[in-house]
Amino acid sequence: MVKMAETKKLIKLSLTALKSNFKELGQPYKMTFSITYWCQSRCLTCDIWQLRPKGELTLDDVQKFAMKNPYFKWIELTGGEPFMRSDVVEIARTFKEHMNDLYLLTMPTNSLCEKNMVLNKVRQILELKVPRFIMTLSLDGNRELHDKIRGVKGNFDKVMDMARGLHELQSTYKNLDFVFGYTMSKYNAGMLAKTIEDVKAELPFVTYNSFHVNMGQISDVYYKNTGLDFSITGNSASDEVKYLISKRHFSADPAQVIEGAFLKKLEKYIRTGKIPVRSRSLDASVFMDSYGNVYPSIMWDRKIGNIKETDYSLFPILHCSEANEVKRLIKEGKEPSAWTACEAYQALAGDIKTVIF
Ligand code: SF4
Repeated sequence: MVKMAETKKLIKLSLTALKSNFKELGQPYKMTFSITYWCQSRCLTCDIWQLRPKGELTLDDVQKFAMKNPYFKWIELTGGEPFMRSDVVEIARTFKEHMNDLYLLTMPTNSLCEKNMVLNKVRQILELKVPRFIMTLSLDGNRELHDKIRGVKGNFDKVMDMARGLHELQSTYKNLDFVFGYTMSKYNAGMLAKTIEDVKAELPFVTYNSFHVNMGQISDVYYKNTGLDFSITGNSASDEVKYLISKRHFSADPAQVIEGAFLKKLEKYIRTGKIPVRSRSLDASVFMDSYGNVYPSIMWDRKIGNIKETDYSLFPILHCSEANEVKRLIKEGKEPSAWTACEAYQALAGDIKTVIF
């Protein structure tokens, strides 16, 4: 019975993504929601950790929002560090209770919160029985390098411990998956292979498919890092993505199929600087920050509205004149040139021929 309900949700998500190939959806199926900007890292590529946020959305706000917008099928709860919110389980529970068709919940972590506390919360989230829960453990290098880029001594070992804990949980919870999220920048140029080898030596259960790479990006609306320069020159980033593609094994898992397509497009994006697929911002997906401000994506500093001004409903925000202007710019190919996983997956799913060919 449970299996059938899960399959139904997967089918609904797949059909919605398929539908987005042919027409506008009218309401997004994926939301990236930064639940807090508090973060205890000291990353060289992101300045979120410098913030001291006040007045972020409360659990009560999140509950009102979920009640008013119960149609998301995929929710990314991001940060800052999401586990710095003591009510992270209640936030996940709120979405599970109100989103009838929720199939996928994704969350990153920097692994710096106390491991047993995090694993306990992960277990509670898994008990909510969202059909699929995927965690991303941030990892930008091998031991010495990761600690340097993230600015916290011992962070690499904490990531390894978190991975061991999640791997143990996987024997009980089949709906749990996790990957390592590797952000490429000038600080780790040429170090992807070495990082993977070192992680595989620590964790024998890890494969090349366990690594998700992203290009470090500049974003005022999200990373707050417009003053930083960590761009990579030369072909090393493109070569590293090609290397990872060559090492990955085939998997029929839809998430892995899309990831494979994402990597191919990422390699092209690094070489050309051009977005390989038109984004589906504000149609298939939306970004909301921890204050309830709504944006097309984490990369586009163009606020469309705030849920507190619309009694927590997204509909008037997504169909206001500012939103229509953003959609027009996307159609004309005038969106900011960025290719991040937060936006790319739904863009690929909405242009399925680019995944196949
Ligand atoms: S990249 Fe993540 S862990 Fe690093 S400062 Fe930004 S939010 Fe924190």
